Amino acid sequence: MSQTSFEIQQAAVIGAGTMGRGIVMCLANAGVSVQWVDNNPQMLEQALMAVAETYAHNVRQGRIDQAEADTRIARVSAAADYATIRNVDLVIEAVYENLELKQKIFRELDGLLKPEALLASNTSALDIDAIAAATRRPAQVLGLHFFSPAHIMKLLEIVRGAQTSPAALEAALALGKRMGKVSVVSGNCHGFIGNRMLHPYVLEARKMLLEGAYPQQVDSALQGFGFAMGPFRMYDVVGIDLEWRARELAGKGQDAPEVQIDNRLCEMGRFGQKSGNGYYHYEPGSRQAEHDPEVDALVLRVSEELGFQRRDIGPEEILERCLLALVNEGAKILQEGIAGSAHDIDLVYLNGYGFPAKKGGPMAWADHQGLADIHQRLLALETRQGDQWKPARLIGELAAQGRGFADR
Ligand code: NAD
Repeated sequence: MSQTSFEIQQAAVIGAGTMGRGIVMCLANAGVSVQWVDNNPQMLEQALMAVAETYAHNVRQGRIDQAEADTRIARVSAAADYATIRNVDLVIEAVYENLELKQKIFRELDGLLKPEALLASNTSALDIDAIAAATRRPAQVLGLHFFSPAHIMKLLEIVRGAQTSPAALEAALALGKRMGKVSVVSGNCHGFIGNRMLHPYVLEARKMLLEGAYPQQVDSALQGFGFAMGPFRMYDVVGIDLEWRARELAGKGQDAPEVQIDNRLCEMGRFGQKSGNGYYHYEPGSRQAEHDPEVDALVLRVSEELGFQRRDIGPEEILERCLLALVNEGAKILQEGIAGSAHDIDLVYLNGYGFPAKKGGPMAWADHQGLADIHQRLLALETRQGDQWKPARLIGELAAQGRGFADR
């Protein structure tokens, strides 16, 4: 087998939750046969039914015919244990976000699978090198980070570990193409490209709630800019409780002022769309986010309890802080070589995070503003609000040369 001709014909997916279901369909749709493992047999049974129901829905909508649906369903089979999947070319793991659990699974699979098989994790943020270190085949280990719902969202972040081989990356890129994904290769860092940039963006949004804004104001400003969803509507869709539980489990981060509103919402059982209430209210069976005065009252109460002197925060400030937070982190990702180009970062934000297509992505938007201007604006924020706004070195360098991110 040549280095670049490794073609994935048979795959296995570990985990039959939200992500496993979408990933299985991506593979089946691309003509790859999939064996599916979950240590909870009931979960696997439900997941197989959910996949069949999605295909039946596609048939009802006229997207595929019954014969095609039957072919795709026939590609998917339940596997009782890891020994059953020993001949596959690729395993994609999508179990709970827990490093020790993922390492244990990778170690076990490494002992069973053929040497050339690839082992991928769908982790959202964990260290791919630490996962690879549990195996004797780190060159064959990588991240395949799908976005929810995986069979619909176009973006695939392919995470290159320190030892991931070019052949493994080629095979992953070829698979991404077969699945019709927009694939972007990312280096290994916490959150990779997309979620790493999301962190400071959301942090600004949360801080502004404490300083004087309300969720609907923040979301309206960003949606007015063209985002598919503002950050608080996004949290309602994803589930506010995911990060809350993760902080609880990790035993850290729960005391930060910025997460106090999230914490209160979760303590009230307001997890987002799935529980009918989150930052917004949802009528039964509806995904329409409705303004909820109770949430505004909670925001006011929490910020006053924390001693904030609230002030009016207009849409300009909301955009300035959220967008510049994205751009500054994007520039750091670029200067560290985590992303290969500014265009790759833009692809991530356009295809995975609802950044307005007309603006070309956060880095293209910054280029359009002019990096000298962006640099000045970051310095102004640094003066007013502190070190977190220190411009990335790359922005200063490019601004001094009169160049943009795209000119690198
Ligand atoms: P989930 O809780 O919906 O599903 C996890 C599944 O893993 C469950 O069915 C569980 O029974 C199974 N499982 C747990 N331990 C197992 C084991 N030892 N062996 C076999 N199966 C086991 O989780 P999810 O939302 O699908 O997330 C899965 C992974 O994908 C996580 O790493 C998460 O960070 C990542 N991810 C999630 C999203 C998202 O929006 N949900 C997006 C991108 C990536």
